[in-house]
Amino acid sequence: MTEPSLDQLRRDLERINDSILDLLCERGEVVTAVQRVKQKTGIPTFNPEREHQMLTELVARNRGPFSDEAIRHLFKEIFQASVALMEKRRERVLRVSRASRSEDLFIRIGDRTIGDDPVVIAGPCAVESEEQLDTVARALVSLGIGFLRGGTFKPRSSPYSFQGLGELGLRILQKVAKRHNLTTVTEVMDTRAVGLVSEHADVLQIGARNMHNYELLREVGRTDKPVLLKRGLSATLDELLRPAESLASEGNEKVILCERGIRTFERQTRNTLDISAIPLLRQASFLPVIVDLSHSTGRKDIVAPLGRAALAAGANGLMIEVHPFPAVARSDAQQQLDIDEFTLFLDQVGLADASPASAPRRVTADQPRIAR
Ligand code: PEP
Ligand code: MN
Repeated sequence: MTEPSLDQLRRDLERINDSILDLLCERGEVVTAVQRVKQKTGIPTFNPEREHQMLTELVARNRGPFSDEAIRHLFKEIFQASVALMEKRRERVLRVSRASRSEDLFIRIGDRTIGDDPVVIAGPCAVESEEQLDTVARALVSLGIGFLRGGTFKPRSSPYSFQGLGELGLRILQKVAKRHNLTTVTEVMDTRAVGLVSEHADVLQIGARNMHNYELLREVGRTDKPVLLKRGLSATLDELLRPAESLASEGNEKVILCERGIRTFERQTRNTLDISAIPLLRQASFLPVIVDLSHSTGRKDIVAPLGRAALAAGANGLMIEVHPFPAVARSDAQQQLDIDEFTLFLDQVGLADASPASAPRRVTADQPRIAR
């Protein structure tokens, strides 16, 4: 019998490849149908016993010339690709994703809105006294800023540092804000304090160190207060969206995402402000995104250019620490602006308002908004 020609053999290989591909596609369709049944009945996707059994039977029927090892390897790859296919179908669309809702979310707090024109949230790192907070509040009102921040429960790296005034601080915050008609933002660190903080503040902040605290997220998610959720020190953007999802899944969709810098090897800034987080988060989710310039940089001298960059990238607002006498502040002294510096900052980022006590206007009328 004459040997088939090389061309003939190659054609045979191509025909076999096509048949294998057809069979793989068919297998993928069957796997998808299996997944549908599993999902309905709650059976787990991955079944190691069944994989083991199928592999053993295949190897037993192997008539060569491929080794048993090669057969095991090839089928294992097919099984893994099939599990991946099933799991992708199982992945639910996040409630906080753009796929669930295409329009931006406007979070209304009294007569103020976050998610529309950029807002400024300013105030001291920590509430230290009524006089301190009142001085800042008066300045904010005269500059047309509506949001007052101030920590009363402070997450400090050292147990010996100032921990905040706690409940007294909350009472001061509420009193001063009421006096000046300001909307307050303050951190809640502990599930046991959620009720107390909710009674005194308008927006509950979940700090970077607590972004993964699922008990806290659950508790805060059960309130109807808007939440300012900070990105963890080394959290990816997906890892920030999942806690936002936890809040939403408990019923609280009023979540403001906050980029506050991430840990990198750079030492000239306290953290590295991740500008790309802004358009990426806005693409991925309908939630508003704000940028905390103080904790991302840890310094005052570059907050204005970074504030402009954040707004140009589509941020819905800026957060910045302001203290009447930063040099004597009980926390974050080096990064807080004094009132003159803050006034200049607003001008430099284009958010200075000519008409006091009104909301700040957009960056400038002719500045292009980020395309989303
Ligand atoms: C803060 O805003 O007061 C604060 C402690 O920030 P972060 O959680 O981002 O460090
Ligand atoms: Mn601070």
